[in-house]
Amino acid sequence: MKAMVLDEFEGELQLKEIDKPGIDKNEVLIKVRATGVCHTDLKIISGKVPTVSVPHVLGHEIAGEAVEIGEKVNDVEEGDRFIVAQDITCGNCYYCRKGQHNLCVDVERKGFELDGGHAEYLAVPRSNLFELPDNVKFEEGAILPDAVGTPYTALKKTTLKPFHNVAVVGVGGLGIHGVQVAAVHGAEVIGVDIEDERLEMAKKYGADEVINSRKSDLEEELRKIDEEGVDYIMDFVGITETLETDLKCLKDDGTLFTLGYEYGQDFTVIPEQLVYRGIGIQGSRATTKGDLEEIIKLVGRGDLKSVITKRYSLEEANQALKDLENGEILGRAVISFP
Ligand code: NAD
Ligand code: ZN
Repeated sequence: MKAMVLDEFEGELQLKEIDKPGIDKNEVLIKVRATGVCHTDLKIISGKVPTVSVPHVLGHEIAGEAVEIGEKVNDVEEGDRFIVAQDITCGNCYYCRKGQHNLCVDVERKGFELDGGHAEYLAVPRSNLFELPDNVKFEEGAILPDAVGTPYTALKKTTLKPFHNVAVVGVGGLGIHGVQVAAVHGAEVIGVDIEDERLEMAKKYGADEVINSRKSDLEEELRKIDEEGVDYIMDFVGITETLETDLKCLKDDGTLFTLGYEYGQDFTVIPEQLVYRGIGIQGSRATTKGDLEEIIKLVGRGDLKSVITKRYSLEEANQALKDLENGEILGRAVISFP
C-alpha cells in the first residue's frame, strides 16, 4: 500500500510502498478516507515528541471504511463508515477502568507511538471504531477525536453555565472547535488570536466577541467586556507569553485550561496568588471514548460542525504540513483519499 513515511526527524515525508497491515481477530482493516493535519504533527516531525520513533507514519485524526473484518468482530460489515479513536489503551489500568482512556498508563496512539493514517490502510481494534452518521462526511468525522474532542473533554471538567464567559486563545484547528463547544453550552465566547482572518471565522462559528491580542492589550479588552475578567480560558498556544497573560485575565475562582503547548516554555506560577485568587490551572489531552460518543451525536444533529478548509492528496502531505507551519490553514486541513 502507499504511505507517506517520516524516515528521519526534520526530514520530509517520503511516498513509499509498504506492507498492508494484517488484522487480528478483534481488529478491522480500515481503508483510510480522511486524515486531519494537526499542529502536533509538526512537533513529531521535529523530533520533539519523545515517544515517537522513526520510520513513522503520521496522522492521528482518521476516518475510513471497513474492508476486512477480524473473525471475532460480528457487528461490522464491509463498507461500514468509522471514526478511529487514536488512543489504543490497555483497558485495565486505574484510568481505563474509570473511563479516562486519554490517561491510560499504557496508551499507544495511532500517529504517535503507532503508525497513523497517512497511509491507504490501517488495522484498528473494533473497540476503537465509532460509527460515522450518514450525514457526516469522512473528513468531518476524522477530526472529532482530537480537534473537537480536546476542547470538549476539557470543558466537561468544568461546571460551565450560560452565564459564564470563556476566552479561547488561538482559534486555529482546535480553537475554532473550542469556540463552538463553549457556545453550545450557552456561554459567552471571546475568540482571541493574532490574525484578523481567524477572528472573523471565530465569529462565524459562535464567538460573541473577538480580540486581536497583537493589536491590542488582551487584559484591557477583556475587562471592557467583563470587568471581573473571564471564568474560563482555553489556551491553544501554550507559550510563556500567552499563559502569563491568561492568568491576569481570569476572574478570581476562574480556570485556565492549557491545551496547546510548546516544548521548553517557562511558566511561573506564584503560589500565594493561586491561594488568594482561588484560580485553577488544568491541562487536558484529547478525549475519551464516552465523550467521543457525545460529540458524534452533537455533530450528527448539526450542533457542532467540523471546520475543514483545505484538502490535500496523500502525495501532497508535505505541502499540507508546510502550509500549516506557515499559518496558511484556517480551521483544519485534511489529507483526503479517493
Ligand atoms: P493551529 O496552528 O491550527 O492553531 C494555532 C492558532 O493559534 C492559530 O490560529 C494561530 O494564529 C494562533 N496563535 C499563534 N500564536 C498566538 C498568540 N501568541 N496569541 C494568540 N493566538 C496565537 O494549531 P492546532 O492544530 O489548533 O494546535 C494548537 C495546539 O494544540 C498545538 O500546540 C498542538 O500541539 C496542541 N494540541 C493539543 C492537543 C491536546 O490533546 N491537548 C491535541 C492536539 C493538539
Ligand atoms: Zn492532534
